[in-house]
Amino acid sequence: MTATETHCPYCALQCGMTLIPEIPRVKLEPLGFPVNRGGLCAKGFTATDLLDHKDRLLTPLVREVPGDRRCPLREATWHEAFTLVIEAIRRSQQDYGPDSVGAFGGGGLTNEKAYALGKFVRVALRSAAVDYNGRFCMSSAATAANRSLGVDRGLPFPIADVAGAKTLLLVGANPADAMPPSMQYLDAGRAAGAKHIVVDPRRTSTVAGAYLHLQPLPGTDLALANGLLHIAIRENLIDEVYIRERTTGFDAVHAATNAYWPERVERMTGVPEVRLRETVRLLATAGPAMILTARGAEQHSNGTDTAQAYLNLALALGLVGRPFAGYGTITGQGNGQGGREHGQKADQLPGYRRLDDPAARAHVAGVWGIDPDELPRPGLSAYEMLDRLGTPGGVRVLLVLASNIAVSAPNTNRVRDRLRALDFLVVSDIFRSETAELADVVLPTAQWAEEEGTMTNLEGRVIRRRRALPPPPDVRTDLQMLTELAGRLGRGEYFTDDPRAVFEELRRASAGGIADYAGISYERIDAEQGVFWPCPSEDHPGTPRLFTDGFPTSTGKAMFHRVEHRDPAELPDREFPYVLTTGRNMQQYQSGTQTRRVKALTVALPEPRAEIHPDLGRRHGIADGDLVELRSRRGAAVLRARFSDGIRPDTVFAPFHWPGVNALTNPALDPHSRMPAFKVCAVSIALFERG
Ligand code: SF4
Repeated sequence: MTATETHCPYCALQCGMTLIPEIPRVKLEPLGFPVNRGGLCAKGFTATDLLDHKDRLLTPLVREVPGDRRCPLREATWHEAFTLVIEAIRRSQQDYGPDSVGAFGGGGLTNEKAYALGKFVRVALRSAAVDYNGRFCMSSAATAANRSLGVDRGLPFPIADVAGAKTLLLVGANPADAMPPSMQYLDAGRAAGAKHIVVDPRRTSTVAGAYLHLQPLPGTDLALANGLLHIAIRENLIDEVYIRERTTGFDAVHAATNAYWPERVERMTGVPEVRLRETVRLLATAGPAMILTARGAEQHSNGTDTAQAYLNLALALGLVGRPFAGYGTITGQGNGQGGREHGQKADQLPGYRRLDDPAARAHVAGVWGIDPDELPRPGLSAYEMLDRLGTPGGVRVLLVLASNIAVSAPNTNRVRDRLRALDFLVVSDIFRSETAELADVVLPTAQWAEEEGTMTNLEGRVIRRRRALPPPPDVRTDLQMLTELAGRLGRGEYFTDDPRAVFEELRRASAGGIADYAGISYERIDAEQGVFWPCPSEDHPGTPRLFTDGFPTSTGKAMFHRVEHRDPAELPDREFPYVLTTGRNMQQYQSGTQTRRVKALTVALPEPRAEIHPDLGRRHGIADGDLVELRSRRGAAVLRARFSDGIRPDTVFAPFHWPGVNALTNPALDPHSRMPAFKVCAVSIALFERG
């Protein structure tokens, strides 16, 4: 049997693994790929369970009575399923116009599929309605990085550089649970004397090895960053030469931080002044320092400005572009980085180009062989599109790829209502997800080990997903589905289902853009263990480290932006007195469509747990292990309580991998990135049932 080197289907670390298709089961071995160096987490080790899982979708499904979602789903032929989809698209566009049909993509799609989906919506559907679930996880940090540094690449350096930082500030990041093999770099850094500071309202597994743990009230991370910068300025710890030579806009930021004196920041955040001062001294004086943010800092109604505040701090300390130093954001989804580069975003074209930029429109239209005027204008962001489904002017026929929005979107009661209000819902997935259960047509798709393509990991390293075995006989790839649908819509000549051909076109479409893949080929990826973008030509080595010589901004300098603390969109009150913050468990991934079906993972963690402080529990007559009901203004969820004295007594933590928790979360959007405020909403808690 032939061994195939490929990558884990889950998170953005994209650990390397070898698959050997032995009978009766595919054998999996960790690979010494540069990011994981032989490490895998429990999710990766059990990923082959997905391939022959008994719940696997093996044939298209349609409703017993087409159009009547009260009827059960039944098996159908591809021809029947496609015919229903095409009829629904034609009917809707005839009656309500092109934008009445839209698509919702995902950060797990390969680069080829993300590219093809954006093109399918613009060229085959001629619609503006496309966005994806990365809007829910990366858009705030991406927006801040784009406006400040001129480019958004999660880590602008290889992850191995983390081991060389002498001080590491992790804000709202829990890599020990989210991507355990990455901890080898943190462990190596600490073994060499580095000091790590974790900012998190919970004492997470990542905190266990940290030198300092700062526990701010959720929603005050921006104030914390401005307070750190205030101290750095007052103690003459900023890098004035760097600020003068490599940045613009510092004076306005300097003026803004006057209001963030340590005593006030201590009152706002709950973090003692002495710890604020120690953090600044470590960042400024202990050697190369790195600041990494993740969703805990970013999923807020002020998430862009919060990410910006940490960027401001990194720039003022002269960290960005220096060896083993800088600012980065830890991408979560498997292709969260590539997924946001190739055009499945409402406002974007391939190459990380803007859809409202005439030059970008002309370039991409030229590659696609259409007139630039045929390209629609930017559409609505993910939650805004979902919120208007089935309403006048909203999308009425929706195609969902690689996303389980009935679980992962905020305010899911509302989102499920809107999905039910659609005239027609099509879902492509490998399992009958909660979103697929609401669909008119479900299309069974090939999965990771059955398909070819590329992914771009959290470092901006473009890697190959290689096919180790064929998909089941009646299962198709998403590229095959999109190509077939485009053909039936009369636009088949613009599409191909060959991933390599799609990638070659993607290279041309991205050429000259921010995320320039022009010099990257499948052959180079094979030969070089991945290639870092930007890589504008075949003789270019790729760019593992950004900003060493300057910034791709209009001035060539990084831009400070003045940012101010704003209260979260929803604050605790008498009725809902606590802050709910959501996050990850080590055993689960995203909405759990895949990992909730893996036995070893569910045995290790059978159900979600609401983490609360014992004092909070006692106040409400709740004991460890009881079932509790959490309520917010939007819904309720019942979870088992887990006591922890490592969480703030005013805060409740719940994982988002199971249905229910996002019924509580607040869809208030960040004004810049349109990202929802997953990380703060006001809740009440009450005993539901004794454990
Ligand atoms: Fe897969 Fe991420 Fe675990 Fe690596 S860390 S094995 S990529 S889930």
